[in-house]
Amino acid sequence: MTAEKRTLTIVQLYPDDMNIYGDWGNVLTVLKRAKWHGLEPELINYNVGDKFPTHVDILIGGGGQDSGQLKVQDDLQKIAPRLRELAENGTPMLMICGLYQLFGRFFKTQKGNIIEGIGIFHAETHAGPERLIGNITTHSEQFGDIVGYENHSGQTFIDSDMQPLGKLVRGAGNNGQDETEGCLHHNAIGTYLHGSLLPKNPAIADFLIEEAAKKRFGDFTPTVIEDRFAAKAREIALKRPR
Ligand code: GLN
Repeated sequence: MTAEKRTLTIVQLYPDDMNIYGDWGNVLTVLKRAKWHGLEPELINYNVGDKFPTHVDILIGGGGQDSGQLKVQDDLQKIAPRLRELAENGTPMLMICGLYQLFGRFFKTQKGNIIEGIGIFHAETHAGPERLIGNITTHSEQFGDIVGYENHSGQTFIDSDMQPLGKLVRGAGNNGQDETEGCLHHNAIGTYLHGSLLPKNPAIADFLIEEAAKKRFGDFTPTVIEDRFAAKAREIALKRPR
């Protein structure tokens, strides 16, 4: 008897407009590791105007300029009910920077214009007077040290009912003020960390894959992956100047 084929559907949100500083590497990492864990990942790219896929196991979105956020905002509102339902149902999601901001309530630009978000994260973002740029390290009990690179003007403040993804070790994080970084709500992760994030933080990639597999198939048996290169990349990233 042949083994059951376990397909995982990975949906990349707005790769044409929201995908900078290596964010595409997050998708590549999930595709690769899902395969290593014995699953059959398939990738669907969703861009403005496309038909939203009927089934989603993992949703991944990247960062972009304010102009990219403006381009996607109307379409994002159109698919918002579906995205909220997926988040409520525990679908694993990873949203970086610009889309992290729009998965909150809004992003208010330097000129005072509001780009509407969809409120999955109870959070709001206001463009600050300076860009927050550089290598960043945070710490989370669940994922250990998280390393990456940030570049944003937005300062994000998460409501008190939300859990940050990590506590700041170095860098600016959500807003440069309260020592928090990102947000973790149900299985949706929002974070400012580019770099890309997942190649250097495989624990987060495996979290997304494990939650998705458990939700779809009821179980997940991880493969032990030899992460020598990821460990080396983390070691170097941790030592690099801000
Ligand atoms: N435009 C947003 C900001 O600067 C998002 C930037 C990004 O995605 N890197 O805050």
